[in-house]
Amino acid sequence: MLRRNDQLEEWDRAHFFHPSTHMAQHARGETPTRVVTGGEGVFIRDRDGNRLLDGFAGLYCVNVGYGRTEIAEAIAAQARELAYYHSYVGHGSEVSITLSRMIAERAPEGLNHTYFGLSGSDANETNIKLVWYYNNALGRPEKKKIISRWRGYHGSGVMTGSLTGLDLFHKAFDLPRAPILHTDAPYYFRREDRSQSEADFARQCAERLEALIVAEGPDTVAAFIGEPVLGTGGIVPPPAGYWEAIQAVLRKHDVLLIADEVVTGFGRLGSMFGSDHYGIDADIITIAKGLTSAYAPLSGSIVHDRVWEVLMQASDAMGPIGHGWTYSAHPVCAAAGVANLKLIDDLGLVGNAGKTGGYFNKVMREALSGHAHVGDVRGEGLLCAVEFVADRETTRFYDAAEKVGPRVAAALLERGVIARAMPQGDILGFAPPLCLSRAEADTIAGATGEAVKAVLG
Ligand code: PMP
Repeated sequence: MLRRNDQLEEWDRAHFFHPSTHMAQHARGETPTRVVTGGEGVFIRDRDGNRLLDGFAGLYCVNVGYGRTEIAEAIAAQARELAYYHSYVGHGSEVSITLSRMIAERAPEGLNHTYFGLSGSDANETNIKLVWYYNNALGRPEKKKIISRWRGYHGSGVMTGSLTGLDLFHKAFDLPRAPILHTDAPYYFRREDRSQSEADFARQCAERLEALIVAEGPDTVAAFIGEPVLGTGGIVPPPAGYWEAIQAVLRKHDVLLIADEVVTGFGRLGSMFGSDHYGIDADIITIAKGLTSAYAPLSGSIVHDRVWEVLMQASDAMGPIGHGWTYSAHPVCAAAGVANLKLIDDLGLVGNAGKTGGYFNKVMREALSGHAHVGDVRGEGLLCAVEFVADRETTRFYDAAEKVGPRVAAALLERGVIARAMPQGDILGFAPPLCLSRAEADTIAGATGEAVKAVLG
């Protein structure tokens, strides 16, 4: 049943300003309005009667899968009991306090204090301000620059859009803004020197970071931010030795480390946090998506004891922190978080992400890596990317105008599977819900193989 040009679609095109959408094409009706009406497990339904396997868990966020009544009921019960109270001046709700405790129990050693927000972007805004406050408290007002990586994704605000290292998020907005700087992406597949080993490439990334810090002056560089696995920039696991080498540079120059775990937090890699997975000793961890599996919006900045001590001591002189959101630790969202984290434990989803993730990456490699135009199949846990190349021998990439990634994603959608054409490069991204089964992993791999053949021969 295909319904087009009905009233809902008319209203959509007239009134709904969609994020990350080509405005004119959508208004002209050249891009579809997909009205999603429901979902169960890894599947969503739309009102045209399609049932689709969501290989990207929404925007890598519906980690427990769709239709979890435990979370829906927790949200409803909290809304009936107490829909809202603020958390300023020491106020809170049972669920927000409980959730802060549950996060501390799951986070890596020493990360014990959570400042709540609503989105990954606002949590990273908070992180920037905390880092500045920290250096002001330590009497180092010049130490304010933040280094991010090209292809990093950290949000869409003014400062967080600057941290993000993707052209689409910069051009047309005069970003990046000072004092944000960028260093190399840890993207071994796209290395300039094709003969370089993975270890040498990782070392080069660390050396270039150090050169940037030294050129800027270590006394002016406050923090480095990175995702344990580069996400929106291409789903790129780090080369072996990368995090160790980067952390050595940061420690040497007294630069704080922010691990942006919006995607990797709460199990996606098969470890509770990406920091556990790669031995990252972060000063602040950003969390969002997997915290509530997107059943309600909630994010957080988890602050390490060693940063917390400085902030706390400073507050005697500086007064209450001048940073607050109306909806920080919103009780309805916190109730979703508590129910979600319990469900992740009860269903063993972190373990499943590791096991089924390993299987998923294996069947994806088997289905795709022999194809003449597949340059790379890579992943970790329940993250996987397939990168297309015009020429495998020379690693020549397609012209963006050919839209190879979006065309393969469209062919895959026709076969009932949702993947994401990543915004920069011809990369098909997968990040299914953590409850994915082996049979569903096989379905994705089979359909992707067919879609690639249909588009690229
Ligand atoms: N950090 C990372 C690593 C992300 O992937 C995202 C969103 N994809 C964000 C931050 C921003 O989160 P939000 O869209 O909730 O603002």
